[in-house]
Amino acid sequence: MKERKALLIHAVDKSLIISEQPPFPFPVLGITTLAALFPENWEIEVIDEDVDLVDLNSEPDLIGISSLTLNIPHAYDIADHFRKKGIPVIMGGLHVSSLPHEALYHCDSVVIGEVEPVFDEILKDFENKKLKKIYKAKNFFDLKNVPIARRDLLKPIHHKHLTSVQATRGCPNNCEFCSVTPFFGHRYRFRPVEAVIKEIEMLLDMGMSRTIFFVDDNIAENEHYAEKLFKALIPLKIRWGSFASVRLAKNFKLLDLAVKSGCLELFIGFESLEQSNLEIASKNFVKVKEFPEIIDRFRSNGIMVQSAFIFGHDNDTKDIFKKTVDFVQKTGIDTPTFGILTPYPGTALRDRLIKEGRLIDTKGEWHKYDGSYALFQPKNMSVEELQQGYFWAKKYCCAPRSIIFRLLRRPNKNFFLAMLVNFSMRANKMKQIKQRWKKRPLVAPS
Ligand code: SF4
Repeated sequence: MKERKALLIHAVDKSLIISEQPPFPFPVLGITTLAALFPENWEIEVIDEDVDLVDLNSEPDLIGISSLTLNIPHAYDIADHFRKKGIPVIMGGLHVSSLPHEALYHCDSVVIGEVEPVFDEILKDFENKKLKKIYKAKNFFDLKNVPIARRDLLKPIHHKHLTSVQATRGCPNNCEFCSVTPFFGHRYRFRPVEAVIKEIEMLLDMGMSRTIFFVDDNIAENEHYAEKLFKALIPLKIRWGSFASVRLAKNFKLLDLAVKSGCLELFIGFESLEQSNLEIASKNFVKVKEFPEIIDRFRSNGIMVQSAFIFGHDNDTKDIFKKTVDFVQKTGIDTPTFGILTPYPGTALRDRLIKEGRLIDTKGEWHKYDGSYALFQPKNMSVEELQQGYFWAKKYCCAPRSIIFRLLRRPNKNFFLAMLVNFSMRANKMKQIKQRWKKRPLVAPS
């Protein structure tokens, strides 16, 4: 008999067009891991709004909401709705961790940072009707205690294409624009490899997809851990993808193990073709002159490269768009993604832009924080030129002839898969471009 009910919501505003999305629902790990923390006398309902609707008539005992910055206005609407009904609402995630006092206009409590270390305290306070406004752990969570996520609470469609798993949290680097280190701290933490393997074996036994996405921010940054993990993955015969830095391609032994363990695709943040921009962003460990060789090394080993290039860095001039597009097309990057430098709350970039008087006041329009809006005054071009150049680059690289030309230029064994991924992601990109640029012709920036 369940005595209590919690409704855990991954808030997604479906009215927004997000262009760099996979064409299938991603098996969210945050709320399913949170669900696993509840004791047995709680009934837990998990709603991922990407595929599901929140029943606004439901009357759980407690609501938990997590959301990215771009979805936060929608998340606040949901929170307001349930609070009006007298149901306590707790919010967590990157955005509210950075702006807890904004969130507290809409919810009863905010969890700053990781929820695991403060979960028991929250539950106790809830039972005693004494929820605090802010919960913040004194120490980072020991990842050997991470519970097995309640993936059973998601829809079967979530597990059809891939399964998500986490091996590490945080990143030892501290790039100016990135939210990872402000949120997870400067410590790079690992789950025991044995625990990760046991979890994957269990998921495979349950019939989940053999394609695993590691949600780690930087999976191979610690050579010893990554080596142990990749070796242990080999017998599982899975295919996997994750986020990694260019350093992985420079370590031949590790790269070889990544390939042998089934690495299929890596999302690499190249960020900029101007070395001086990487210096400003504290990402100087990445060397622009090495990019072509690094891309070639990944691709010739059968690893698809999803690249991230960001426009609007301080030393970007108007020629950066064409330069980047030419580079992407020439090096045959499998799936290029572009973004506009975005001053997310909590980042050092945002602090600097505020100090320099360059941040544009969006008056709470947080939905613009999706990487496709120019939200500050660039140094060497106008806001409009940054916006137009971004759309031009994006449109150019997702045009059918660009995709075909790029992939044919350096075909490898992933040719057909890369083609499929590009074309399946194209529709949303074009939808966004058409919606936002209806009356303006797209022209190549000079
Ligand atoms: S951008 Fe990548 S390398 Fe830099 S801090 Fe974030 S996760 Fe780490």
